[in-house]
Amino acid sequence: MPKFSPLLLIKLILWIAVVVSATRLLQKRKVSSKLRFFMLAAGVIVFGVIYAFIVQGGVNPSPVLSLRGVLSSILVKHTIAPPLLGMLIVLLVMGIVSNKSLCGWGCQLGLLQDLLFRVPTPKWKPPFWLSNSVRIIAFIALVGGMAWATFDWIAHVDPFLLFSSKWVLPALLFVSAILLASLFIYRPWCQFLCPFGLVSWVLEQVSILRPRIDHDKCLGCKNCVDACPTGAMADFYEDKKIHADCFSCGACIAACPRDEALMWRGPRRGKNKETKG
Ligand code: SF4
Ligand code: SF4
Repeated sequence: MPKFSPLLLIKLILWIAVVVSATRLLQKRKVSSKLRFFMLAAGVIVFGVIYAFIVQGGVNPSPVLSLRGVLSSILVKHTIAPPLLGMLIVLLVMGIVSNKSLCGWGCQLGLLQDLLFRVPTPKWKPPFWLSNSVRIIAFIALVGGMAWATFDWIAHVDPFLLFSSKWVLPALLFVSAILLASLFIYRPWCQFLCPFGLVSWVLEQVSILRPRIDHDKCLGCKNCVDACPTGAMADFYEDKKIHADCFSCGACIAACPRDEALMWRGPRRGKNKETKG
């Protein structure tokens, strides 16, 4: 598991900068498909490829690694690693402030899957109950394995090793399957397996900034629901209390033909007409 290092700190600062910039762009309705493509590609290159090169045999930080590091220090070593815990808290707070935006704009594996999903192939949007049930089971296996058998299943097939110089065959086969599936399913690792994805999904239920509909201004065309690669926008549209993962991609806002009907913003005080009219 990683120790805190200057490279880790620099990546954390870069992530914060990207999330702040992305949030501003979302708030200003400036996230076009082209801009999103550019940011995804740049993120894979900087956070994935270049970072793999500069850490040279060390660990390339990822949200998943920070969570696994904290879990492992608590459940296996029965200690607390304050730097890793601090980093994880910062990452999770970013998700609460601007809904899962680190996953959407900073995580190297998430960005690569997102890019591959743009290839024009038949798509399948898995029902949320299915993807989340599998993810919960995977999380229980991770925590249970660490607590009772010091076994971390992700360590044996870690798809993030793609962005390192430590390639091992099982991990390469596993990440190849994920990347292949990404052509047809939006972020299969994130939706079905990622432990950070699950924890941040729980926290995003109380996120501050997220897509919010003003049903007074909404035309009812549901372009936003169609544009969303997950079930999140359908849940937002219906004002459901629990929503599926929203990866802050901005596709819903870009698809909305009416300014201010759908915005990336916080709740409006004293105005509860966000509910369907
Ligand atoms: S859910 Fe996806 S984007 Fe988020 S940490 Fe996991 S792999 Fe990265
Ligand atoms: S399109 Fe879906 S995933 Fe993307 S920002 Fe909108 S609700 Fe979130």
